Amino acid sequence: MFRKKIILLFLIIVSVNLTAQQKSYNILISFDGFRWDYPNRGITPNLEFIKQHGVHANSLKPCFPTKTFPNHYSIVTGLYPQNHGIIANTFYNPITEKMYRIGDTAAVRDPQNYTGEAIWETAKRQGVITASYFWPGSELTLDYRRPDYYEKYDHNRAYSKRIEGVLNWLKLPFNQRPKLITVYFDATDTYGHKFGTNSPEVTQSIMQLDSLIGKLFDGLKSLNLYDSTNVIIVSDHGMTDVDNVRIINIEEMLSGTKQKIVDSGPVMYIFPDTDDDKSKIYNLLKASEKNYKVYYREEIPEYLNFSKSFIIPPILIIAEPGWSLITNREVKKYNNMSVGGNHGYDNNYIDMHGIFFAIGPDFKNGYTCGTIQNIDINPLLAELLHIIPNQNIDGKFERIEFLLKNY
Ligand code: AMP
Ligand code: ZN
Ligand code: ZN
Repeated sequence: MFRKKIILLFLIIVSVNLTAQQKSYNILISFDGFRWDYPNRGITPNLEFIKQHGVHANSLKPCFPTKTFPNHYSIVTGLYPQNHGIIANTFYNPITEKMYRIGDTAAVRDPQNYTGEAIWETAKRQGVITASYFWPGSELTLDYRRPDYYEKYDHNRAYSKRIEGVLNWLKLPFNQRPKLITVYFDATDTYGHKFGTNSPEVTQSIMQLDSLIGKLFDGLKSLNLYDSTNVIIVSDHGMTDVDNVRIINIEEMLSGTKQKIVDSGPVMYIFPDTDDDKSKIYNLLKASEKNYKVYYREEIPEYLNFSKSFIIPPILIIAEPGWSLITNREVKKYNNMSVGGNHGYDNNYIDMHGIFFAIGPDFKNGYTCGTIQNIDINPLLAELLHIIPNQNIDGKFERIEFLLKNY
């Protein structure tokens, strides 16, 4: 009799636990370059709805450099770029001895460039199915490092197709259905770069992306999954206006030295040919240090979390917000640009901050908080997926748990 009771109790515990584990679906949406204050323009009814009925942070602080690949990968790994390896959109990797560029498919899929564990890898090890309709780091050539279902990046894929793809995964038989799906949209970044943050084109793209949330909600309702799905909307960074007046030709300044220059715009990396060149370059840049900051790797300020890796180049230049560091080749391009937008600057600069909105069964209702950090999203997702997060991360669940109902 007593044994029967014990067994019954055990079965109840197991089934309650299983129900809890199977409870929610989670959709992580990225709106590239959607600045923290775009939702204040009064043109985003769906974000407004989430603000009223879910949670919302005043801003989402990205990692430095405030670029697309480093930050998308920080969101899914919970690591600073110095620890996950994707330190920029364009960088030289001394491990592979090759350049990494986001337009180079072989580099983008090469697992050697990625030294973090993305949430889908952590989930897979613990038997949880995931999917990705685009996300930096989701296409690696090793099966176990990818989500169970994924799409290869296609910049021109219609946004409606992406939403349809997400919903199709949720139509799979229960035991094949992913518990986490990521999806990515570029419009606010693309038009922000081209036309600047106050352009009609950016206004249009803000409205377009907001309307996709409504379409996703409708789709979830028609699948009867709206009440069991957490929808989290983030951006990787913000955007600030740049122009052809605030430019600094670094290559010209360094004309008497031997070096390689990598990247341009808000951030530039210098690889001096010799130790002699190294000090010469540094001294030259230091002597004219105006509207930018120059650092040896060893003196990069601690708060940027961007010095503890040998992948980080020997000399780093960071422009003041709105300024652009350029090479000779780019003079023409900048001369032809009267106003545009860019990002990559110091992550303390508020224009570089993005958005965080979330709604669903696990989130509080009508709750707004201040700034949160994007590295904390990985442990948040782990909690939502009922998995144990990777222990070796920079993110902290304690800094974000208050957004959840049960905390
Ligand atoms: P950024 O230069 O930092 O503004 O990067 C934005 C660009 O990254 C977008 O316009 C896309 O072309 C590109 N991008 C975003 N996600 C991916 C991806 N998963 N694979 C390849 N390229 C991507
Ligand atoms: Zn971006
Ligand atoms: Zn961009």
